[in-house]
Amino acid sequence: MASTHKKTTLVTGLTATGDLHLGSYLGTMKQWERYSKDHDCYFFIADMHAITIPQDPKLMRKRSLDMAALFMSSGVCLESSVLFNQSQVPQHAELCWVLSCISAMGELQRMTQYKEKSANQKQKETLGLFAYPCLMAADILLYNPQYVPVGEDQKQHLELARNIAQRFNHQFKEEVFSVPDPVIPKVAARVMALGDPEKKMSKSDVSVNNTVYLLDKPEVIVKKIKRAVTDSGTTIEYNEKRPGISNLVAIYAALTNSAIDSVVAQYEGEGYAKFKTDLADCIVSAFEPIRDSYEKIRHDEQYLQTELEKGAKKAQSVAKETLRKVYEVVGFIQGGNA
Ligand code: AMP
Repeated sequence: MASTHKKTTLVTGLTATGDLHLGSYLGTMKQWERYSKDHDCYFFIADMHAITIPQDPKLMRKRSLDMAALFMSSGVCLESSVLFNQSQVPQHAELCWVLSCISAMGELQRMTQYKEKSANQKQKETLGLFAYPCLMAADILLYNPQYVPVGEDQKQHLELARNIAQRFNHQFKEEVFSVPDPVIPKVAARVMALGDPEKKMSKSDVSVNNTVYLLDKPEVIVKKIKRAVTDSGTTIEYNEKRPGISNLVAIYAALTNSAIDSVVAQYEGEGYAKFKTDLADCIVSAFEPIRDSYEKIRHDEQYLQTELEKGAKKAQSVAKETLRKVYEVVGFIQGGNA
């Protein structure tokens, strides 16, 4: 007898702005294989979010394919999940417009990420940068998910997406959108830069030594971990007064699925050198299968593009139906749009 069990839906995306790294991995990608088994998943490469800051078009195209290959190598199952490139599903931009018409300037101005990015002198303050959370709300609400995995940095944006969904349903007196819950990893929700543990490990860091990239070679990983900033102490501890070693302990705990306390207990009496060697080994073991798989498929661009196209078609079939309902309740005359 066919199963009547309906899985819950989960949506997640990563911005195509730089090479994926240990923060991306521990913050979200490490869970992807499990998500794929437990939920109906929509994974997307957020190229439209990427252009809220200037991008080199050639590099954008290359990076989108790099990311597609990395997603496929990191547990995204193409049979059971939908993998696509955001710009290949035009309903994201269309729904963004409708949602931006019920979003208040004030609430968008309060977004920390907008404040930080627009405070950056080198960055032009554009409408796209300001409206980013409306597009993110559209990315999510199109698929009516129950869950959205987010890092600490995106919690505020998800909260806004939830508010927008509730406001829309209330304003048009129709339950068009479900209101999703965040999924935040308990350990290493915020992986910090290796050379500056006061700031987040990020794709756009100018110092490559601050970031361990998914595609770094083992010897590079070992070197970066050896150079990671600690302090003049000697003990392996987790303590907010010692951000460097605490960051490394949290990384180790997340990689080995251990509690922070048990990592601290395990390394009692050991020095930094032994701990750093073990940590580098853990990272190498986690990244090696991903890099191997990536190297096997990345060269076949035809394959990657075909899979993205197939994914975009599947995503569109759901996104079109949500947008049809939205247009209907908003009062747009339907028909004509493909
Ligand atoms: P981004 O593509 O940089 O916007 O990040 C997308 C998601 O990756 C975030 O919402 C987090 O889930 C995860 N992520 C990125 N950087 C980090 C980090 N340094 N620590 C933890 N999670 C991260």
